[in-house]
Amino acid sequence: MIYKRSSALFAEAQKVIPGGVNSPVRAFKAVGGDPIFVKEAKGAYLYDEDGNRLIDYINSWGPMILGHAHPPVLNAVIEKAKKGTSFGMPTEIETQIAELAVSMVPNIDKIRFVNSGTEACMSAVRLARGFTKKDKIIKFAGCYHGHSDSFLIQAGSGAVTFGSPNSPGVTEGTAKDTLLARYNDLGHVEGIINSNKGEIACIIVEPVAGNMGCIPPSEGFLEGLRSLCDANDILLVFDEVMTGFRLAKGGVQELLDVDADIVTFGKVIGGGLPVGAFAARTEIMNQLAPLGPVYQAGTLSGNPLAMAAGLAMLTELNENTGIFDSIGQKTKYLHKGMTEVLNEKNVTHTINRIGSMISVHFCENPVTDFESAAKGNNETFKKFFHGMLDQGIYIAPSAFESWFITEALTYGDLDETIKAVATTAESL
Ligand SMILES: *Cc1c(COP(=O)(O)O)cnc(C)c1O
Repeated sequence: MIYKRSSALFAEAQKVIPGGVNSPVRAFKAVGGDPIFVKEAKGAYLYDEDGNRLIDYINSWGPMILGHAHPPVLNAVIEKAKKGTSFGMPTEIETQIAELAVSMVPNIDKIRFVNSGTEACMSAVRLARGFTKKDKIIKFAGCYHGHSDSFLIQAGSGAVTFGSPNSPGVTEGTAKDTLLARYNDLGHVEGIINSNKGEIACIIVEPVAGNMGCIPPSEGFLEGLRSLCDANDILLVFDEVMTGFRLAKGGVQELLDVDADIVTFGKVIGGGLPVGAFAARTEIMNQLAPLGPVYQAGTLSGNPLAMAAGLAMLTELNENTGIFDSIGQKTKYLHKGMTEVLNEKNVTHTINRIGSMISVHFCENPVTDFESAAKGNNETFKKFFHGMLDQGIYIAPSAFESWFITEALTYGDLDETIKAVATTAESL
């Protein structure tokens, strides 16, 4: 395929936008080459500026669970826009989407809308600190909770009790309150809690990890976190920005039957517009301003266009619950097909899958945490990525990303994808 116009647009963009992109993961740093500029998208397909059609497995990193330009979502936005796009005053639709979200998700009585997943997680942690009157938090290596300071922490070598910032601009002062644990390692979490007795406000976790590839929690991991939190007066925060309204109507809490204290949302909840949200039981949510002392605000929060898109999306997911099973089946089909062709060509690999999330890792061992995910062969992934792209299949330009299956993908699309995997495998 030819990407002349995309490359020219990228050259222009780089003059006025750092790295030519407004979010780093869009650049092809990990795989090489120039990013592709999208012109439009419909259903399962992207159409780029050079006129190529690509089958999309990123789907805006998750939100487009029903496919691009899904008519009910699109129409809701268009109709809303005609009536004004922002007021900074309350509107009825905010209550409507709040009522619907609260009815779909377990253990939440109230929800507040923000503009991104980052904002949701940042605010959830502030709320947890305000509620518990404690400062420290535990996060897991390889889990992403947006780009706010407290979360940009990686394991220091040796002792991992205290995190060290992994971005300039994050102060040591902030980093010292973020304690880093290994995903799927309860013993490690317990050790950290024991050496920080009475100081930990919350554990924040992706209950199914999706930002180091797709890594489901091992048996008993989430239940273990729940017990540790209960025993130590710690709040359990499920970051369901990726998994919420994707793995089930009620997210991972429903799918795996584990209760969280605070839940964060993003991606699907906005139907493709900038929306995030965080939610909890009344007692916790009433700590927020204007009722309580924990401050949180947003000029464009609850924006009518964003709420209209989100409401249309959630309404469809609420009414047509067969969707979750359907996308799960499609993902399973893709998994089986890819496994067969990769095995046929003797390509060493591991595929992780849960619901409509799936990732391919070019390594031998099971991928269960950040360390094992990092063992994947990046050179093989690069070849795989470009091989797929050449055949019109767009997967995330990084081995540390999940693929997102949408209801818009047909079995024909999946067969085309599996065929592309077979062809690509020959040169891996
Ligand atoms: C995408 C993501 C975020 C950040 O959301 P943004 O809308 O990009 O700020 C937070 N947590 C998880 C689990 C995510 O996947």
